[in-house]
Amino acid sequence: MKFIYYQEHTQKKIAVLAQDEAYFYDINQSLNTNYIDMLDFIVNGEQDLSKLQNVIANQTGDKKVLAEVKLLAPIEYPKRPIFCLGKNYLDHANETKGLAGSDDNIPKFPVYFCKLANPALATEATIPNHKAISDKVDYEVELAIIIGKAGKNIQSEDAFQHIFGYSIANDVSARNIQRKHGQWFKGKSLDGFCPLGPNIVHQSAIANADNLAIKCWVNDELRQNSNTNKMIFNIGEIIAYLSQGMSLEAGDIILTGTPAGVGLGFKPFKFLKSGDTIKCQIEGIGELINYFE
Ligand code: MG
Repeated sequence: MKFIYYQEHTQKKIAVLAQDEAYFYDINQSLNTNYIDMLDFIVNGEQDLSKLQNVIANQTGDKKVLAEVKLLAPIEYPKRPIFCLGKNYLDHANETKGLAGSDDNIPKFPVYFCKLANPALATEATIPNHKAISDKVDYEVELAIIIGKAGKNIQSEDAFQHIFGYSIANDVSARNIQRKHGQWFKGKSLDGFCPLGPNIVHQSAIANADNLAIKCWVNDELRQNSNTNKMIFNIGEIIAYLSQGMSLEAGDIILTGTPAGVGLGFKPFKFLKSGDTIKCQIEGIGELINYFE
């Protein structure tokens, strides 16, 4: 199942895609429920998952045309900062050696940091260029894990029981600002720097999230082309280390790092230019498309 958050007139609603992904079913109308938003559904909706599968299988719900509505980021306002990994693909760690003020060691443990999404940007939305403070804005396609069940001290072999599903994120980054401030948080948390979407795929629909093709195009140029099986720390390890002594909550979002091919990795650099289209794609999830102001 693929879940979306969309806007109809002035109302924001949650929905599940039909078998033919050109259509969707509004969840509250189909089930006669009152979920406020995606976070509410992730936290409280487990008992309705099988009912939604029946709606899709029997086509009994309130069916609508996807192309006729405006998609929103599936979680617009995360309840906590987004957890991120730095340098979680070997080829990306190598391409940024000596750049952006980072140290050059290949991490022995996951490198965690946070970024803000206030709000997360929808697919098809425009990323603000912030040209007054940066001319070095970069893209990073990343697999986003959406936590579904709270936990602490989670063992890596149990990690998947805590996952609601997966989405695609673009960890947009102002390289000069992350360098200037000696840390990633500020340069990655500017308004509009966290496109997320276009949907959340339920974990049951992904056979192995540690083995998904992950790609990013800028205009027609394929810049990033890898697989989540190239991550230095896999999903189980990411969740196990992060939850050591620190509680994870339902609705938490974890960005798992980006492979090689970011603008910073080219000589000369290939930072985003006004009018660029950035397309992030992950196998089994979909495409997150954004425009650079
Ligand atoms: Mg990143």
